Amino acid sequence: MGKAESFDFSDMAKYNSEAELTPGSGKKGCFISIFVGVLILCLVVCLVIGVGLLVYFAGKGTTCSDAPADTDSSNAGLIDKCKEVIDDGDTSICNACRKTTTTIPSTTPAPTSILQDVRLPRSVLPELYTVELQPNLYDGPPEEFTFNGTVRIRVKCHQSTNNITLHSNQLNLTDEIRVTSADSSHSVHYRSHEFDTKRQFLIIFTNVPLTQGHYYDLDLAFIGPLKDDLHGLYLSSYQRNNKTIYAAVTQFQATDLRKAFPCFDEPAIKAKFKATLVRKSKMTSLSNMPILNSKDRGNGWIADSFNVTPPVSSYLLAFIICDFDYKENMTSNGIRYRAWARPEAVSQTEYALSVGTRILSYFEDYFGIPFPLPKQDMIAVPDFAAGAMENWGLITYRETAMLYDPQESSESNKQRVAVVVSHELAHQWFGNLVTPSWWDDLWLNEGFASFIEYMGVDHVHPDWKMFDQIVVEDVQDVFNFDGLVTSHPVYVPVYHPDQISEIFDRISYGKGSSIIRMMRFFLGEETFRNGLKRYLNNLAYKAAFHDDLWFALGNQSAIENKNLNVKAIMDTWTLQMNYPVVNVTVMADGDIQITQKRYLRDYHAVDPLTYVSPFNYHWEIPFTYTTKSNTTFDLTDADIHWMHKTDKEVISGSVLQSDWILGNVRQYGYYRVTYSDENWNKLINQLNEDHTVIHPTNRAQMINDAWNLAKSGDVSMTIALKTVNYLDKEKEFIPWKASLGELGYVDSMLERTALYGPFSRFMKHKVSGIFTPSAFSSSNFTHLESYVNTLIAAEACKYGIESCVSEASRLYKQWMSDPSNNPIRASVRLTVYCSAIRHGGTEEWDFAYRMYKQSNVASEQSRLMLAMSCSSKVWVLGRYLQYSIDPTKIRKQDATNVIVYISENEIGRGLTWDFVRENWERLMREQGSVLYKFARLVSGILTKFNTRFELKQFSKSSKWLNFPYLKFGSSFFAFTRLISGVTAPFNTNFELKQLEDFVKLHPNMGSGTRAFQQAIEKTLGNINWMDQNYHIVKQWLADQGFLSA
Ligand SMILES: [Zn+2]
Repeated sequence: MGKAESFDFSDMAKYNSEAELTPGSGKKGCFISIFVGVLILCLVVCLVIGVGLLVYFAGKGTTCSDAPADTDSSNAGLIDKCKEVIDDGDTSICNACRKTTTTIPSTTPAPTSILQDVRLPRSVLPELYTVELQPNLYDGPPEEFTFNGTVRIRVKCHQSTNNITLHSNQLNLTDEIRVTSADSSHSVHYRSHEFDTKRQFLIIFTNVPLTQGHYYDLDLAFIGPLKDDLHGLYLSSYQRNNKTIYAAVTQFQATDLRKAFPCFDEPAIKAKFKATLVRKSKMTSLSNMPILNSKDRGNGWIADSFNVTPPVSSYLLAFIICDFDYKENMTSNGIRYRAWARPEAVSQTEYALSVGTRILSYFEDYFGIPFPLPKQDMIAVPDFAAGAMENWGLITYRETAMLYDPQESSESNKQRVAVVVSHELAHQWFGNLVTPSWWDDLWLNEGFASFIEYMGVDHVHPDWKMFDQIVVEDVQDVFNFDGLVTSHPVYVPVYHPDQISEIFDRISYGKGSSIIRMMRFFLGEETFRNGLKRYLNNLAYKAAFHDDLWFALGNQSAIENKNLNVKAIMDTWTLQMNYPVVNVTVMADGDIQITQKRYLRDYHAVDPLTYVSPFNYHWEIPFTYTTKSNTTFDLTDADIHWMHKTDKEVISGSVLQSDWILGNVRQYGYYRVTYSDENWNKLINQLNEDHTVIHPTNRAQMINDAWNLAKSGDVSMTIALKTVNYLDKEKEFIPWKASLGELGYVDSMLERTALYGPFSRFMKHKVSGIFTPSAFSSSNFTHLESYVNTLIAAEACKYGIESCVSEASRLYKQWMSDPSNNPIRASVRLTVYCSAIRHGGTEEWDFAYRMYKQSNVASEQSRLMLAMSCSSKVWVLGRYLQYSIDPTKIRKQDATNVIVYISENEIGRGLTWDFVRENWERLMREQGSVLYKFARLVSGILTKFNTRFELKQFSKSSKWLNFPYLKFGSSFFAFTRLISGVTAPFNTNFELKQLEDFVKLHPNMGSGTRAFQQAIEKTLGNINWMDQNYHIVKQWLADQGFLSA
């Protein structure tokens, strides 16, 4: 799913960026959960599941190190037993293997504030819910809007008990509770009830014990607030002719169905749902299933009853009441597919509808399982916090993730729509049909959706080279976070809702996706596909545990005589954090020696030992290579040389001494590669002589590996610098994206030093080789050409290439003279607007503001809003800040974005800091309810602080830390970004000391601790980088003549 910064569920962490495709934007923030540090303590217990339980059940007693990991199907019984135990919340079993399993915390103190025993008892479980909801969003002030409803839950008693325990949160009961036998006696059993608010439980006691095997009906009536808080059943709104139009929308993942009605709100507890939505006649209602019938209730009220769902997890339900329009299509399998948006924007749904229809059919075919519901709706919700949410049959999106206007939207807007649509459709199988037993296996859902999204988009747009893009979008992106000792394993036990929200992070998404891609490579496409079919078919409408998948794939591999021990391999990638670097050496006789070691960006960093590797940081590595005289980049699983959890292996070969060798072809493997300086230099020579000999993904890999291995000291900085010398000849997107990521880091390190001028001249030189001003208006670009041009144009204007700046200003003026004919290609508009406004005056700014007010396209509005913050005039920025809190000037929902954008402009930074302090109470009051945005505001403001004075003020402001949402609860994610953002450019001992002093000053930061640990680790890395590399960079710039202007 997808949510926004604070309650970052899934598709959020990945898709939260509204920014356009520019080198500096996108997934740069630190998405690693802070909280994990804290939770982990609790976890100890259950981590064992992967290895320990199996071992335990296999009767191996107290050692887990030789856990069985064969593909024998007899393990199926064990897995079932494991799942049962886990599902029951029984953790005692884990004691058997404490010493050797994955994530034994050693020193971390236990967090007393987080409850672990939050699981429902299993004695009574639901079969069918009959629920009616009536949102009241028509009269009176919106602060007083409510919804009321009733639910009848047919439950089955699985074990005799005197109570029914289910979830309920922020609901008031409005009528007597009734518990009646479902048999003909209809006898009544209710005695009393109580709320356990900490666990969000409603416990209903009966006057006689309920009988095992019998059915009962539980009747409840309730009322709840309909707020604009983006959780549960909530209020959404948009403007039409200065009038506010309201809608009721839902977001239940992970634990918020319990805010809409009392229910058994855990993913493994599947049941059928029969919903009725009561609306005013001018509105439309939508849910997971088609409408069965509509009844007139009088006074303008209509009750829509929907068909009964198949068994479904609670978090996948959805209910919407709105006045939207739709466009519709039919899939080849006869599934009705509709795309909904507010009436003004419905024409922008065509693209999403077209790719959605095609991808749904493709997945049906690929998985060999028809989409099980009779219809599929997608809806663009204004001011939706999430990126998107995969509710079964009714997928919700934020507007920028679904709406596309060919004239106004950029190529990256288009790709984002395709990718998010594909991701959510992948969930219809991975997550909706087969659901993880508990949230600790969330990564399986999100990792799969994050990988399969590439397959869906590749099917529709093969020319976009999605399987190449994944290298820079996921693999190299998550390498950054996963190279720290403060990372965490993919598989993480969680209990409380606060912890659950914490694991919707880059590790679950990006590393999940990267290791699944690696698995597809080593299994081979057919084995992978057939194994997935086996897994989905075995577990349809049920809940799964990750070993279910390993065994399905392992069995498939055995059937095909490949005999890969998938569990043994994959455990090394999911149960320990970080990843290896493989050192490749060609021996005198032409053999190849490979060694592996754990890669860390800083080998001196102190491992907090929050997690202990069960494999002593050794991995099962599918190694591949190619050489100069035998160059091939189209390898298959047959070309793999397995490196088993050993330090060293020798591959017999006949590599010529004069050849270069290149490891990890196409970067299918989740590992880095290094060589002798001699081999690095041969590879670099190849780039300089003819870079096209090496596949673009491996050019990107070489650059990314070399620079990051230089950061860790594994190779010299001189080698890394040489990998980008050929760039003025590079025309492909993937290597440029990888390069600009690394050069952007150098930029941030040198920003405040004397070398910044020479470095800027170097960048200008590299970019000049490929930048042409025609990039701004030509329309003859392919998708990927457009991507390169967008990246390059942004750099060209940033480093002040005259033809870029002047062409931007000229085009913008042309647009100003004829506002209805925008001559600028959508993909470079952000760069053009920003440059023209930065170098222009109030006229340019005022024009942008007028266009912002007039635009009906969410992505165009976003970029105008961002571009207006590029002004270099202090008073213009000051006025823009004032606009941000005037709802007639800037929509309330955009206020925080505007403030954050201005804070990111160096000229606006101090101004914003003052503004926020002056308006603190008001902002809290008006923006605080939208938690995720508020947290973002705080983090955005602090992102670029880098002076002693600013940091001191931050340290003193205890109110930041006392702000409850930043302390605990739903916005750990945002808090992490705050800390990482503030400290990202830190690279002096002085700054490090300030950080350390701050930590000493606030010893009880709870969840903040981890973020600070990471900040310190990164700052130390930056300091080392400066110590070791400043002079090397200086020499290198001097050698090329960039030192003097
Ligand atoms: Zn997702």
